[in-house]
Amino acid sequence: MADRMLQFVSLAQHQPDKRASSMRREDFAEIYADFDPAQAGAQSSRCSQCGVPFCQVHCPLANNIPDWLKLTAENRLQEAYEVSAATNTFPEICGRICPQDRLCEGNCVIEKGFESVTIGAVERFITDHAWEQGWVTPPRPRQERPQSVGIIGAGPGGLAAAERLRTLGYQVHVYDRYDRVGGLMIYGIPGFKLEKDVVLRRWKQFEAGGIQFHLGVELGRDLSFAELRARHDSVLIATGVYKARDIGGPGAGLTGIEAAMDFLTASNRQGLGDDVPDFRSGRLNAAGKRVVVIGGGDTAMDCVRTAVRQGAASVACLYRRDRANMPGSMREVKNAEEEGVQFVWLSAPEAFLGDDRVTGVRVQRMRLGLTDSSGRQAVEPTDSRVTLEADLVVKALGFDPEDLPHLWGEPGLEVSRWGTLKVEHRTQMTAMPGVFAAGDIVRGASLVVWAIRDGRDAAARMHTYMQQGTMQVAAE
Ligand code: FAD
Ligand code: SF4
Ligand code: SF4
Repeated sequence: MADRMLQFVSLAQHQPDKRASSMRREDFAEIYADFDPAQAGAQSSRCSQCGVPFCQVHCPLANNIPDWLKLTAENRLQEAYEVSAATNTFPEICGRICPQDRLCEGNCVIEKGFESVTIGAVERFITDHAWEQGWVTPPRPRQERPQSVGIIGAGPGGLAAAERLRTLGYQVHVYDRYDRVGGLMIYGIPGFKLEKDVVLRRWKQFEAGGIQFHLGVELGRDLSFAELRARHDSVLIATGVYKARDIGGPGAGLTGIEAAMDFLTASNRQGLGDDVPDFRSGRLNAAGKRVVVIGGGDTAMDCVRTAVRQGAASVACLYRRDRANMPGSMREVKNAEEEGVQFVWLSAPEAFLGDDRVTGVRVQRMRLGLTDSSGRQAVEPTDSRVTLEADLVVKALGFDPEDLPHLWGEPGLEVSRWGTLKVEHRTQMTAMPGVFAAGDIVRGASLVVWAIRDGRDAAARMHTYMQQGTMQVAAE
């Protein structure tokens, strides 16, 4: 069958079809189509089956990419699914939203000019196909164990751990302050990147497998951390990072200046059919407005593209560096440009204008200076200024962790100088015995794929802890 592979020499890279920008501006449906089996097989056959696969080395989950590509090329799709699902709790989600250009595909060794294997699109196809065929089943423990675990946070980190621990037979309880399961995959990331049903069907599977969800429960408010700890043999904190970085300056308190997560959550809730008073009132709705989004990361890209779909009159994105130095994915910048977003590079807000409501943003033009200690070019202000008219300004400047030790009255939970939870890196256990942590609350704002990796690793360590009754770490 090896002759089916190595087809990159004669077969060009083909990404899944993308909807025309004029159509996708009209709704929140995903913009990329799925491969059909023939396309997935053909694209998989371009892989050269490297002995040392750099794609796998650069995948945070060390996915067995060459093996599932070969099985897909041979149309052995159920086996491809099993290999893919063995290392990834949500392959169809990573296939959609991983920044593949920085991870697996960006490190595919197929030479430039031939273009990498479309790893993400094949990964998505395999599991979407598995769902259609009924191959995706709830976690099934071989034996029940009496011990129970409490997981705080139903985002990808908490869910990945929950799935592993339930499969091992533990009684798994997941607590979340939200009313739905999925964390930022439900209320942060918009449907045009990840349709909500893709996440919600996983929730139903996990419930069918016996994972117990306690929704609408906020730790520190509805339940104390000490109470939760007393209920369970081991605890995982996977609460993510939600404290929005703010911006000051004249006029920063004007009406019409909103935080990115408020804007995105309102839009996602509206799409899920919830009644959202702040959307209805127009406060968190961009329809007919001149929108300015401040920031250059993926959250900013999601805000500008959401505003376009809500029917904004115009959408501009302000970023203090240039295109080459922005943190957001280039693929998303291109998609936003196609959808009509105007990027205003090398620009920082100096003041927000207006009497009670915002009507404009005075922008100071910047220039790039010398490279600083972090390896990035510093930005310096210039004397040049412009004014952008605006009825809605969305701040998307990044997120920091909440102060959990203080909020939960648990000074024993140690934090780093960035406020992230400190864990022993070999065990993922915090300074409190039996209390582990995973995902953004440990790493700072990161990626879904890293949260999955952390959740799976934490589950393995929690299993060891509960079997040993302690956490012994072998010397390095
Ligand atoms: P989260 O997903 O944040 O989940 C944490 C959960 O904990 C939430 O459900 C929250 O309600 C709950 N919680 C918090 N505090 C409490 C409490 N006190 N009591 C009870 N429950 C609590 N990553 C990508 O890989 N690709 C992308 O395209 C991408 N786009 C993004 C777009 C946006 C707008 C944002 C904000 C992030 C994006 N990310 C993306 C990052 C990614 O979503 C996160 O890295 C990932 O979700 C982190 O997972 P987590 O499980 O650590 O936390
Ligand atoms: Fe690539 Fe992400 Fe899939 Fe890994 S999980 S193979 S990085 S798309
Ligand atoms: Fe195949 Fe590219 Fe991975 Fe090599 S690096 S195994 S060619 S996908």
